[in-house]
Amino acid sequence: MKFGGTSLANWPRFLMAADIIAESSKLEPVATVLSAPATITNALLEMVDLAVEGKSYQAVVQHIDTVFNTLYAQASEELLAPAQQSLLQEKLNAQMLQWKHKLEGICLLGECPDSVRAAIVVSGERLSAALMEQVMLAKGITSAQLDPVSLFLAHGQPLESVVDINVSKPRFSVLPLNDYRVWVMPGFTAADAHGKIVTLGRNGSDYSAAVLAACLNASSCEIWTDVDGVYNTDPRVVTDAKLLAQLSYQEAMELSYFGAKVLHPKTIAPIAQYHIPCYIKNSFNPSAPGTL
Ligand code: ADP
Ligand code: ASP
Ligand code: MG
Repeated sequence: MKFGGTSLANWPRFLMAADIIAESSKLEPVATVLSAPATITNALLEMVDLAVEGKSYQAVVQHIDTVFNTLYAQASEELLAPAQQSLLQEKLNAQMLQWKHKLEGICLLGECPDSVRAAIVVSGERLSAALMEQVMLAKGITSAQLDPVSLFLAHGQPLESVVDINVSKPRFSVLPLNDYRVWVMPGFTAADAHGKIVTLGRNGSDYSAAVLAACLNASSCEIWTDVDGVYNTDPRVVTDAKLLAQLSYQEAMELSYFGAKVLHPKTIAPIAQYHIPCYIKNSFNPSAPGTL
């Protein structure tokens, strides 16, 4: 089950996603892939770009800090124990310190290697995953994280890598998969053969979910987003766009290849190869049937 940025944008939405995962986990163990909350990946990229230009990035850092602190504060009012909030806070502080050091280096150099940029921009997904793990635990559900760096081996450019499923899949066989009801993985990222963090390209968490589904022999792959499913065109642009009950892998590939943002183009190959049914569902309207 993959949840995109808009489905995790603030605490009420994050909780809606958590409820959907919790409900599903009553029937079957769930592996979930999370995006960064909306605006975070863009903010991280902007922060790096400003550092390269030698401009002040403090306002952007502040925005990211506020988004996560607000999430933690509201989650704690409703659900998390004080110790859980402190743990998340410590993770965020450690992350901020890492960014600070890297950004100072980037500022001095006036440039940022792609591998450094990759390591910075994937952090939003990590913070999402850490929060979801704690939310599941607070709900009394056994939960642990899947680390994409040690599990997904990727090739290609640091900012646009492709996962080698043949090498990655056997790595899952050593995990105590039955010990936890909900596994949480940060989307959008993997590591290269040297263990260096890479990204899977913008919007790449859909692809993370497809790869994870293939690696786990999942019974299905669910992409939870902010529209009722796949339409014949972008429903935010064309008001009478038609919702499709189902489409073939080939049709989905064509739609995404020609720009339908609802699915990252790389998503289809792994689920088609491993014959995994894929549902596109609306986290704002979970009872709608979605698109198969
Ligand atoms: P997420 O944050 O969940 O990954 P995205 O913004 O990446 O969500 O993708 C969902 C968006 O894709 C929708 O809000 C919609 O505007 C856009 N979209 C473009 N083409 C289509 C289409 N054919 N069917 C459904 N949504 C589409
Ligand atoms: N957060 C990343 C992005 O905005 C990946 C994703 O959400 O799919 O590109
Ligand atoms: Mg997306």
